Amino acid sequence: MANNLSPKHICFLELPAILAGSRQWHCTQQALHRMHPVIEAAFKLEDPTDYAQLCLEWPYVADTDKTRIAYTADDRAAEADRQTLTTVGKYLKRHFPTLPDHTIRDLVAKYASVSAFSISDSVADIIDAVQDGPPSCMQWDESKIDDTGVHPYAVYAPKFGWGIAVRKDGRQINARALVMQREQGGRNYKYFVRTYQRPSDTCARYSAPDEQLAQWLEGQGYEHRSSWRGEKIAYIENADRSHDFVAPYIDGNAQSVSEGYDSDNRTKYLVISDSGDYECTSQNGGYEAHNQCTCEDCGGRIDEDDSYSVGYHGDRRVGPCCIEDYQHVTGRRGESYYVPEDEAVEVNGDYYDRDYLGEHDIVCLHDGEYCMMDDTVYIESQGEHYRSDDEEIVEDHKSEWHMRDDCVELETGEWALSDDAWCCESSGEYYLTDNDEPVIIHGLTFHADTSAEDIAEAIKDRTGQTNLFVPAAERAAVMAPIVINGYAFATPAIETI
Ligand SMILES: [Zn+2]
Repeated sequence: MANNLSPKHICFLELPAILAGSRQWHCTQQALHRMHPVIEAAFKLEDPTDYAQLCLEWPYVADTDKTRIAYTADDRAAEADRQTLTTVGKYLKRHFPTLPDHTIRDLVAKYASVSAFSISDSVADIIDAVQDGPPSCMQWDESKIDDTGVHPYAVYAPKFGWGIAVRKDGRQINARALVMQREQGGRNYKYFVRTYQRPSDTCARYSAPDEQLAQWLEGQGYEHRSSWRGEKIAYIENADRSHDFVAPYIDGNAQSVSEGYDSDNRTKYLVISDSGDYECTSQNGGYEAHNQCTCEDCGGRIDEDDSYSVGYHGDRRVGPCCIEDYQHVTGRRGESYYVPEDEAVEVNGDYYDRDYLGEHDIVCLHDGEYCMMDDTVYIESQGEHYRSDDEEIVEDHKSEWHMRDDCVELETGEWALSDDAWCCESSGEYYLTDNDEPVIIHGLTFHADTSAEDIAEAIKDRTGQTNLFVPAAERAAVMAPIVINGYAFATPAIETI
């Protein structure tokens, strides 16, 4: 034999070809039986002690007992058409003596056992079948179970007729199916909805239905139905506070539940239907209530009817839980909608969208408040809007608005900029420079109608001077006295007359 061929090639291709060519009986055996699959599995782990002998014996799955191996011991046995039956374990031990006992046990469990079918109506078995059986979205780790309080399959209470059917090979659960088995009105209801098979690909996360288990169940009188409609499951409070009760992912085409109440036992339960109040299609032990949605602000579950759409486009949904953070405003294009509190502006008891104030003729005042434009005036000197009735501002004789502090009230009752008016030191009244020119005496301004006595009095008050009469001759040249109402006044400070 060629040295460059792999042992596997030699054992499974080369040797059988040679044996078939040299022995008619071997050729017949090869045609009738495939070599037992456990040999190839063992071969991956260890080499057999004698390839040639192993191949000559051509071990295969015994026709009469699938758990055993049949083989032809030698040419003499072949001549007598005598096959030997033995256990898979013994056979492996003889040809692969180096394989450890536990490995042989595993190989036997995998390749030499027949499936065992059984049905249990214990909750523990129902949950075990999910947890240890074929891969499923309902296989949970301990921490997830701690969060919810129980595994969601705990709701399939046997008192409502639930049970679990499994197909085991050795100790491994290779297929499972929830079953319903209850009596009602003298009739037995026995059915299942979905079987799950352990895929041969160990990485697969999806389990196909298991034909063997389905056939076996049908043989036991269980119908195959499309849904669990009308069946009850237990109402178990959910430790996860966002849901009231624990919900499994319900198989079949009725995947919602409604609450029911058993007054005899004073307990709640859930009834499976296709139009119930709660949708049970979550893999997290929760459900989605119909007409319910999630508040986008706090994540709480809210009634759709009680929810608010916020923003101009109404594209954010919040519940009564969080609507207090919003204000209903008039805004873009005159439409009404909710905006966050700090984006709302109040004017005269009405609220507006801060971003669309211009559309509503609203201006921001000097003090940060908002006001309708018509109720304001613009004060040039400040570059700010003021409320028309703001006491800090006044309208002058030219119908212009100014800061009150920049203005004086004229003797006519009108207002004018301080710069445009002067004050009579005697009367205290203000006059518009453009209308009345003051008489200036001793640097003080007086209205021309002021009596000489009043002027003398005022000058005395302001300057302390009493001797205001100066003989005209003394200062004739440069300081001609001024005569008002018969009084002559010295005029050192006269600027204009
Ligand atoms: Zn909320």
